[in-house]
Amino acid sequence: MTALDLLNRKRQGAAHTREEIDFLVRGVTDGSIPDYQISAWLMAVCLRGMTPDETLWLTQAMAASGEMLGLQTRWPDVVDKHSTGGVGDKTSLVLLPVLAAAGCRVAKMSGRGLGFSGGTIDKLEALPGLRTDLSRAEFEAQVHRLGLAIAAQSAELAPADGKLYALRDVTATVDSLPLIASSIMSKKLACRPGQLVLDVKVGAGAFMKTLPDARALADAMLAIGQAAGIRTSAVISDMSQPEGFAIGNALEVREAVEILQARGSADVLDLCRALACALGVDDIDRTIASGAAFEKLRAMVAAQGGDPRSLDDPSLLPAARLRAPLPAPYAGCIAAIDAELLGRAALALGAGRAHKGSAIDHAVGLVLKAKVSDYVDADQPLLEVHANDETRLRQVLETLPAAYTFADGPVEPPTLIHAVLPAG
Ligand code: URA
Repeated sequence: MTALDLLNRKRQGAAHTREEIDFLVRGVTDGSIPDYQISAWLMAVCLRGMTPDETLWLTQAMAASGEMLGLQTRWPDVVDKHSTGGVGDKTSLVLLPVLAAAGCRVAKMSGRGLGFSGGTIDKLEALPGLRTDLSRAEFEAQVHRLGLAIAAQSAELAPADGKLYALRDVTATVDSLPLIASSIMSKKLACRPGQLVLDVKVGAGAFMKTLPDARALADAMLAIGQAAGIRTSAVISDMSQPEGFAIGNALEVREAVEILQARGSADVLDLCRALACALGVDDIDRTIASGAAFEKLRAMVAAQGGDPRSLDDPSLLPAARLRAPLPAPYAGCIAAIDAELLGRAALALGAGRAHKGSAIDHAVGLVLKAKVSDYVDADQPLLEVHANDETRLRQVLETLPAAYTFADGPVEPPTLIHAVLPAG
C-alpha cells in the first residue's frame, strides 16, 4: 500500500478500508506521508466524500494517534462543548465560564481559526500573557481545582487531526462533512468527556450552508459520540449573519466580557441558553447576573498566566491603530449580511492565517453596528473596520458593501435556533 495508491483510489471515488485509513493516519502522524500528498488526499475527500464507516474509522484513528485523556473515567460529570465553526463565534468564551459557575466541571481542548471561521484559542491568546499550551498535568489539575480549563489541542492530543487541521486551513479543504465530523469528534474521543453538546452552525458564515447539510453533519457527529459512549446532544444554530457584533480576536473577547457582565448581545446569550439547556443547565441568567460567571472567567485567565485586569479594563487588550466606518449606501432595512464575506474580510485584515503557522493580528477585525432586520439611514455606519494596515483597510472597505442586501419594507430577524437534537 502506498499513499499514491490511496490518493488515486479516493480521486476515483472509492471507499477506503479500515486498514487504508489507519495507514494514512499513521503516515500523517509520523510524517512519512509528505504534506503535498496529504493535501491532495484532503482535496479528493472534499470532492468525493466518505462513507459513514470511513468517517468513523478516520475519527477513531485520529483519536488514537496520540494520548487518550479518558476524562470521563476520572470525572463522570465532566462536560464539553464544540462548535462546527462560524464568524464572530464567541459562544465558548461566554458559555464555558457560565457552566463552570453553575457547578459543571468543564474541560475543553479547542482549536485555532480555520478557513474564514475564528478559533477559541486565537481569541483567548488575545489576552496578554494567557497560555493555552497547557501540559496534560496542568490541564487536569486546573479542571480539578477550578472546574474550568480551555487549552489548545496539544501536540500529543489527536496529533493527526492537528496536522490535517493546519493543512485544511490553507488548502481550501475545510468544508467537508466527513473531515469536519472526524476532526471535531477525534478530539472528543481523545478527551472523552461525560457529556458533550455540539453547536452545529448553518448559513452563509458556516461550513454547512443549508439546513439538510447541517442536520447531516449533526447526525454524523451524534452517531460517533454515541458509538464512543459520550452522551452527545446538538443544537443547530443560525450563522446566516455573524454571531453577535464583533469579529476578530480581541474584539470578540471584549464582546464576550460584556455579555458576562450582563450588557451584551442578546443572540449570543439566547444561543448559550439553548446549549446550556441541552447539557441540563437552566437559568444561566442568574449565574451571569450574580457575577459568578465573570469571576470564573477571571479565575481561569489568572490560572493560565493571563492578566485578569484586561477583562476589567478592555483598554489593556490589543487595539488596532486605524478605524473606519462602512456607511450604508442608502436608507432601508438590512435583509441579509453575508457572514462568510465578513469572515474573509477579517481574515484579510490579519485576524486569521493565510499560510500554515503564520502569525495573526489579535487587534484587527470588524464591529457590526446593525444587524439583519435593523433599519438604517443612508450613511449610517453598518460596521466599523479595525485595521493596522492602510492598504488592507482600503481593500476591505471596497469588498464589504457586497456583503449587504437591503429591503424597502420590514424584515424579520432570522430564526436563531433551528433544531435541538437531544442525546439519544
Ligand atoms: N472545528 C474543528 O475542530 N474541526 C473542524 O473541522 C471544524 C471545526
